[in-house]
Amino acid sequence: MEKYDAIVIGLGPGGASALYKIASYGYRVIGFDKRREIGVPIQCGEFIPQYHEYRGILPEVTDEYLEIFRKMPMNLVDNRTDRVRVVTPGGDEYEVGFDGFVIDRERFDKWIVKMAVDRGAEVRIRANVYKLEEDGTVHVRMGDRTEKYRADAVVIAAGTSSTLLDQVGLYRETDELNLGHVINYQMAGVDSDPRVVEMYTGKRWSPGAYAWIIPKGGGVANVGLGIRYDYIQDDAKDINVYMERFWHEHPVASKKLGRAQPLSYVGGLVPVGPPPKKTVSGRYISVGDAANQNIASLGAGIVTSSIGGIAAGEAIHKYLSGEAGLEYYEELWKRLLGRALEDGYRLRLVIDIITKEDRYTDEFMRIVGNERIRDLVYTRAPSNMDLLKIAMSIMK
Ligand SMILES: Cc1cc2nc3c(=O)[nH]c(=O)nc-3n(C[C@H](O)[C@H](O)[C@H](O)COP(=O)(O)OP(=O)(O)OC[C@H]3O[C@@H](n4cnc5c(N)ncnc54)[C@H](O)[C@@H]3O)c2cc1C
Repeated sequence: MEKYDAIVIGLGPGGASALYKIASYGYRVIGFDKRREIGVPIQCGEFIPQYHEYRGILPEVTDEYLEIFRKMPMNLVDNRTDRVRVVTPGGDEYEVGFDGFVIDRERFDKWIVKMAVDRGAEVRIRANVYKLEEDGTVHVRMGDRTEKYRADAVVIAAGTSSTLLDQVGLYRETDELNLGHVINYQMAGVDSDPRVVEMYTGKRWSPGAYAWIIPKGGGVANVGLGIRYDYIQDDAKDINVYMERFWHEHPVASKKLGRAQPLSYVGGLVPVGPPPKKTVSGRYISVGDAANQNIASLGAGIVTSSIGGIAAGEAIHKYLSGEAGLEYYEELWKRLLGRALEDGYRLRLVIDIITKEDRYTDEFMRIVGNERIRDLVYTRAPSNMDLLKIAMSIMK
């Protein structure tokens, strides 16, 4: 059996960032992903805030933990946006200035893994991890073969609600209220403003979540939506029904999507629950979507998962060099992301209240107005309290 200092399971932004950081310290580390190709299929809307916007959203995160985004070459950016527009169920539109990048996630994920390899990491693809043992032994299925590897520290970054977490006693999100079911089409022929990210609310299109048009430039856009099953009130249980409606029937969006044709289709799960209780158990730690490191009010996790991965790398270094126990990881990510994840979750609870009825959403947005949409995007706690008061006053 091959022995490593560390093993990383899953090479999305969370796992790849951990792999990179661990390799940067010079440790013997190997990463496994069950996919045939890193970053493919792209399960993502590919939208991230620009660097100066993170400073507002995540003020607790210092530059060193944003290493991946500081180093990110601009040729991974397909489009720059400068506004977010929210369209209410009644068709009112609100807008806020917000600088974003629409990245090429396939190349982005590959680029992080390449940086890790350049620093000495080993990588296996088509490598499905199926069994974990307490002593850090990891069982991997690669085609017809199975192999065993062992390490002193193992990162589980295998995505939302990974069942691997159960095997080692780590928290796994299973509550349907905290799981967004999402789909995304990449479409050509979309007639939307390339500078504007659009978010659409309304139970007919996206019960318990929102729909989006994220422009990649040249008429190409990511068009998708989320649903939560507990919020569905009509007969349609299939997410594709909501997508068809949004595409062809939404009074505003269907005009922009009238000529649109699909280039690709993916579906997935997004964690929208509170930060988890347990992310360290023995030699194992959970990172990224596997650890609900996602802003619950938005379902955005590219940046936060990468920060979680870098934090995991630092914690593993302290652990392997005898400076601290692996528990340091939990302390570190909570210091960096805890407040933002808590606030995002609390804001999601406010949104849950107002999206119960479309008329509440319209009324809420009328009161919140253009000025305060920034608070929704930034997920700030003091404003959350105000937003909760507004939500409660509408319900009376
Ligand atoms: C449709 C959609 C749109 C989204 N849009 C956005 C957006 O615009 N902006 C944003 O910030 N976030 C967005 N997100 C969320 C974002 O994609 C995730 O938060 C992010 O990818 C989390 O990174 P991760 O590394 O934790 O997990 P993932 O990216 O899910 O990576 C997990 C990896 O683990 C691998 N894996 C799983 N099980 C095993 C196993 N047993 N053995 C080996 N490998 C395994 C998988 O193959 C995968 O490569 C979106 C999500 C979806 C589904």
